Amino acid sequence: MTIISLAAFVNKQYPQDGIVRIFPWFAASLGAFAAFVLATPAKIYTQYMVPYVIGLLLPVFLYVLYIYLRAAIRRRVGSPANMIGFFGFFATVIHEILYYTGFVSFGGLVSYGLLFFLLTQLLNLSLMFTRAVTQSELLSVELTKVIESQEETIRQRTSSLQMLNVQLEQGNQELLRIEHVRSNLLAEVYHDLSTPITAIKGFSKAIMTHVISKEEAPMYANRIYERSLMLEKLIDNVIELSQLKTGEVRFQLEQVPIVPYLRQLSQRYAAETSTHNMTLIWEEPDCAWPAEKQLFAAIDRFKFERVVANLISNAVKYSEGEGEGFIRIWSEMRLSNRSDEGHLIIHVTDTGTGIPESELPHIFKRQYRIPGVQASKKGSGLGLAICQEIMTHHQGEISVSSELGQGSDFYMTLPVTIRDAAAVIDRDAKGEEHGN
Ligand code: ADP
Repeated sequence: MTIISLAAFVNKQYPQDGIVRIFPWFAASLGAFAAFVLATPAKIYTQYMVPYVIGLLLPVFLYVLYIYLRAAIRRRVGSPANMIGFFGFFATVIHEILYYTGFVSFGGLVSYGLLFFLLTQLLNLSLMFTRAVTQSELLSVELTKVIESQEETIRQRTSSLQMLNVQLEQGNQELLRIEHVRSNLLAEVYHDLSTPITAIKGFSKAIMTHVISKEEAPMYANRIYERSLMLEKLIDNVIELSQLKTGEVRFQLEQVPIVPYLRQLSQRYAAETSTHNMTLIWEEPDCAWPAEKQLFAAIDRFKFERVVANLISNAVKYSEGEGEGFIRIWSEMRLSNRSDEGHLIIHVTDTGTGIPESELPHIFKRQYRIPGVQASKKGSGLGLAICQEIMTHHQGEISVSSELGQGSDFYMTLPVTIRDAAAVIDRDAKGEEHGN
């Protein structure tokens, strides 16, 4: 029974190296012999000890040896120790057989052989155990690493989700702000939009129904035309202001030599103002910087011109009927603590109607028109609000001082730097080369 157990044990130890079909034969024949031993007296079965040893015991041992050899060749875990242990055991068994068959004079080494084999099994077991422990430690280290990397991934995902959430929230807030600006502006200009429309409707209906005589019709047609121009301008201004307020307008800021730029603008608009009996005077600023240097300001040429043009056109508008008038464009420099930067204050001063002191705080508000002025002067009431928005985009400000009957002084404060003209022009040229 021990031999059957040994064969079964080795089969289990190296299942890929054993011969599956052979084991039942061993089990059956060894079982049969065990039954024979149990069933017959010692006198009888003892006679069959040699055939048993050679015919059954030896083949099983050779089979076990064969499995261990194959396992050792295939470098299975613990196979060298197993093979050596079993060889030792097998040698003692052979020696015992030789002793029983009278070939050698002493016996009893089998127990030592078995002990040696068991010791190698123990060694194997402890080796396997150590290996299992090491393996499990390695696996747990690996697992910790995997968990850490997962945690890191989760952290990264969470933070990117949070960022996305913040961006969405900001986008939402921005949309709400734009919506708010638009609806406010529309509510504010609604009255001014509807007034010319009502007039246009009334005049045209009167012409159609002949309430207005043929002689008067051209005059009313002219009024309709004027109101539609007003409406057009108002709509343009509303759109422009709403785009400025909501940040939909892109500003192409570039470093511009500001004094030559203003000089050029003044010359351009001087011809236009002269047709309104107004003289536009450009005054060169006092040079508070070295002669070889220039004042540079980061401006969007077209948008900034819109501000200057609006101030000139207001100066003309609110001077008309006051006799010959003057518009002065002049500027003064305010240096900051650093000697190479500061603010240029650009004035557009007129000799027009002036503005009552009580109205000064309101005139940059959207849709504000000084009471009583509206009837005589055409305007949208949005021009100065637009100017203020444009100046804010230039990191600047616009303000006014005025005296009723004396004229008004609108002034813009613009950040400027004093630089080497050649260096900036050279750098700009290089920027253009690179497609900037
Ligand atoms: P508007 O289209 O009515 O001119 P603005 O926003 O340009 O609108 O100006 C707002 C108001 O400020 C005007 O209605 C006018 O009463 C006053 N105003 C603006 N510029 C001048 C000026 N140069 N002189 C006197 N009043 C002015």
